[in-house]
Amino acid sequence: MKLSVPKLLLSTAFFAFIFTFTEAQNVREPKNNPAEWSAPTEPFRIAGNLYYVGTYDLACYLVATPEGHVLINTGLADSEPLITESVQKLGFKMADIKVLLTTQAHFDHVAAMAALKQKTGAKVFINKADAAVLADGGASDYGLGGDTSYQPVKADRLLNDREIITAGGTQIQMLHHPGHTKGSSSFLIKVKDNKKAYSVLIANMPSVVTGKAFDEIPDYPTVAADYLYTLRAMKQLSFDIWVASHASQFALHKKRKPGDAYNPEAFADRGGYDTALKALEAEVQKKLPKK
Ligand SMILES: [Zn+2]
Repeated sequence: MKLSVPKLLLSTAFFAFIFTFTEAQNVREPKNNPAEWSAPTEPFRIAGNLYYVGTYDLACYLVATPEGHVLINTGLADSEPLITESVQKLGFKMADIKVLLTTQAHFDHVAAMAALKQKTGAKVFINKADAAVLADGGASDYGLGGDTSYQPVKADRLLNDREIITAGGTQIQMLHHPGHTKGSSSFLIKVKDNKKAYSVLIANMPSVVTGKAFDEIPDYPTVAADYLYTLRAMKQLSFDIWVASHASQFALHKKRKPGDAYNPEAFADRGGYDTALKALEAEVQKKLPKK
């Protein structure tokens, strides 16, 4: 059949529509997630120009600068309106978000990324080791894979270990902390207020996701070595305050109550960080091949 130009355009549009529709239909975001993942919480200023804009437990961070903002993590698909409300409550505009980052390409941190990318027009930067899994919506994830669990996102820029992103004078360094996913990342951010400068660690804590022993994962032959590397690297980091991918991992709701005044020091807690890593190390040890 010969198609005239308008018909051809129409049919292309039709197939594009069908494709998008089918793609959306195939996303199976895991259900029955903890209620705290979808509950709202008060947004607040952590330190300098770094803000908490996540849900009660799914931590999302806004680095606000005069030249546009960076959003780190986007939560579940249903987190999008909560994040938007939090950003606006703090007096910022969604349209000023220019870059989207994540600590790991699991559905509880990136499921709203496609929607937020579309809404803001921001560019997605990803640790190059998580680019493939982000692009297939989690299907190729070694721990949670099998189904596409979130709307796939093709990244605009791939990041290497220790690469620094500069946004409006704020430096954000990506630290490759593989294991939890192949491209799990922590971020070190230098911020300051009118009294003091802070080095802030957004830690991706290396929790174990697989029920299998590490030598039973052919999709990820370096998983054991990666976890051990990450534990070593994280123990050696220095910072003034730390937060993490989940609020529960850094005891946010113990350290800060709604209405509390600005207090970066509430998040110092080096001891809590070291204790958390020690507990995770014990979990990792259980997964190592028995000698
Ligand atoms: Zn995860």
